[in-house]
Amino acid sequence: MTNSNDFLTSPSTIGILGGGQLGQMMALSAKEMGYKVGILDPTPKSPAAQVSDFQIVAEYNDKDALKKLAEKSDVLTYEFENVDQDSIKDVQNKVLIPQKLNELSITSHRKREKDFLFNNNLPVVNYQYVNNVDDLKLAVDIIGFPSILKTCEGGYDGHDQIDLNDQEDVIKAAEKINGREWILEQKVNFDKEISIMVARNKDNQIETFPLSENIHKHHILHTSIVPARVDDKVHKNAEKVAQKIAEKLELIGVLGIEFFLLPNDEIIVNELAPRPHNSGHYTIEACNISQFEAHIRCICGLSLPKITMDHHSVMVNLLGDNLTLARNELKDNPAWHLHDYGKAEIRPERKMGHITVVGDSIEDLLKEVKQFE
Ligand code: AMP
Repeated sequence: MTNSNDFLTSPSTIGILGGGQLGQMMALSAKEMGYKVGILDPTPKSPAAQVSDFQIVAEYNDKDALKKLAEKSDVLTYEFENVDQDSIKDVQNKVLIPQKLNELSITSHRKREKDFLFNNNLPVVNYQYVNNVDDLKLAVDIIGFPSILKTCEGGYDGHDQIDLNDQEDVIKAAEKINGREWILEQKVNFDKEISIMVARNKDNQIETFPLSENIHKHHILHTSIVPARVDDKVHKNAEKVAQKIAEKLELIGVLGIEFFLLPNDEIIVNELAPRPHNSGHYTIEACNISQFEAHIRCICGLSLPKITMDHHSVMVNLLGDNLTLARNELKDNPAWHLHDYGKAEIRPERKMGHITVVGDSIEDLLKEVKQFE
């Protein structure tokens, strides 16, 4: 375990909270660089643990388990934002935690996240905080229809979201809201959903990855097309917004930013993810370094190269049984870069793996993966 000149050299140990596919791809990058990796996850042989040095099998909020991981690690990171922040505070004196708690606190709570964006003059949808039925009525008066009620904490991929189109929906929603924090946001009529990954290290070096165009199905990311087929000025604007967010958050590591693109080419930030993001998986094959390597480099105090992209790319998520289809057809599809996360159980709509294809023509690339539409 070496810690010299403020950066961590291999074979220091990186502890990752969470053993899913994001943790797995972070671990793979870290292992390539010679680091040791430990995972905390309740599922034995989790995807990340399959490619790591050790796993502590325990719930994410198990304080003793986190203490154990901290004691065995030189640096700690996480693959999701719903980390128990009190537990993290408890181990701050035992291990390096480069990502600021403030970043977690903001990005794990929709109101704090939207307030952060609004207060920094960053583009955000109209929203109102809702904690009880009176708040809801007032919020509906201000935001109007159509709108979406979202829980402040815990929701993802469209979970815990209620569409409000009329007063009847409001009455139904009113029965569900008490005891939780929500925000009501205006439903935006967007042309496209796009996203960008930004990386920042402690020397304030900031690098952005190319903008991705994302197609969702049932609220779950289905396909990412890179570079996004949008006007040049949208690319530049997204980069500018990403740089500002990285600075204001004092980001260390990689952050994913999801945007709505409006018909007039304005962009609105929908969500921040303080970690590598599903729509950035293409970076593994298409860029000089992947979002996962960038994250590892940042949390270990290393510099970043300027990000370059050699190929256009299309990434398609393999949800549920599409993994079986991909496994069976891989033999005759040499262009596919198949990533099989090694999850024990295939469940409908579960992210089981993904395929990336790279080349010159987006149209041809979309044809390569059309059976997963
Ligand atoms: P979220 O969990 O906030 O990322 O929302 C999941 C998906 O719901 C997004 O990717 C959008 O397709 C849709 N969505 C969320 N918020 C809005 C909004 N304010 N206006 C329109 N669509 C939205």
